[in-house]
Amino acid sequence: MIFCFSGISSADTVKDKYLTADAAYKKLRNNPKKMKYRDNWLKCIKNYRKVFNHDPSGEWAPAGLYKTGILYYELYKHSYNKKDKNEAVKTFKHVWSDYPRSGYKKKSKKMIRSITGETLYEKPKVYPANKTALKNKTILPGIKLVVIDPGHGGKDYGAPGYIKGVHEKNIVLAISKTLAKKIRDKLNCRVIMTRSKDEYLSLEERTEIANKNKADIFISIHTNANTDKRAYGTETYILNSTNDKNSLKVAARENAISTEQVSDLQLILTDLMINAKINESTLLGGNVQESIHVSMKKKYSKIKNKGLKQAPFYVLIGAKMPCILIETGFISNPRECKRLKSSKYQGIFCDSIVKGLIKYMKEVSPTSYTDRVTNKAVDG
Ligand SMILES: [Zn+2]
Repeated sequence: MIFCFSGISSADTVKDKYLTADAAYKKLRNNPKKMKYRDNWLKCIKNYRKVFNHDPSGEWAPAGLYKTGILYYELYKHSYNKKDKNEAVKTFKHVWSDYPRSGYKKKSKKMIRSITGETLYEKPKVYPANKTALKNKTILPGIKLVVIDPGHGGKDYGAPGYIKGVHEKNIVLAISKTLAKKIRDKLNCRVIMTRSKDEYLSLEERTEIANKNKADIFISIHTNANTDKRAYGTETYILNSTNDKNSLKVAARENAISTEQVSDLQLILTDLMINAKINESTLLGGNVQESIHVSMKKKYSKIKNKGLKQAPFYVLIGAKMPCILIETGFISNPRECKRLKSSKYQGIFCDSIVKGLIKYMKEVSPTSYTDRVTNKAVDG
């Protein structure tokens, strides 16, 4: 009697392979006599291995691998052979490290904890903003298209302002429109806005607009808020995981999820970041944030540089170009709310962003900015 099917034809789909493996394992489990024989276990393990081998990068691979681990561990309970246990742990670790987006990642972590007592943690990635290294590595052509994303809109009002009737969605739209005009005029490049009126857009739709149009830079504009009305200042974010509680809070608010959910998001972030231009974004964000601080300080009192920070923002995930999110100021602060709604302040603020963009362009590609200005003169 055959307990575990073998010789599955290659015409079988991977799903068929998995179902066959499951059926065979079920049969084995229902037969205590057969469970005593190592061979029967190995045949079942082989079936699940086939699911994995069919396409190790496919969606069924982590399931096949996870089940392989489960069977090795079950086998260990009969064989008392430490090698079987070690094989199980090794397999679970494989799932945990190589399939960050799979639901089997969490299950594997649980299994490892129950078998060895070990708790696996994601190693935080450190991306130093090494400008010299970046210059040697990246040759960035001139910036031709900037996508500006005014946060929120429509039914999503964003953070409420200190002043009655002032909402984040309106402030960031006004700032974005001014910024778009200044970028077109001063940088001579195309600008697309994710929304140019009061309409609702999902966070994914915003990044998609930038990707579809092959933007060179993506800038999301927001205003910050805090229950403490005294909080003020400007901060710029790049996409990355963080341990900073305040940054997590900002990401939770902008993502419209809880801080716990942001922590979960961080677990899967590593894999989603493969295409993220961390170094370029760091350089872009650093220049913009610094420029805002330097320029605004010259014209206004009480300007606070909260610095370049990192946090997992949904709106930046999946963007294939350098991308930043600017928290222009605290709409919850009386002074900054008043400033943010003033078109004069908005104009000066956008000028300072443009200055930061020019510095960034010069750093990544020293000739591109000069070329652009010369071209414009000729065109005009
Ligand atoms: Zn916002």
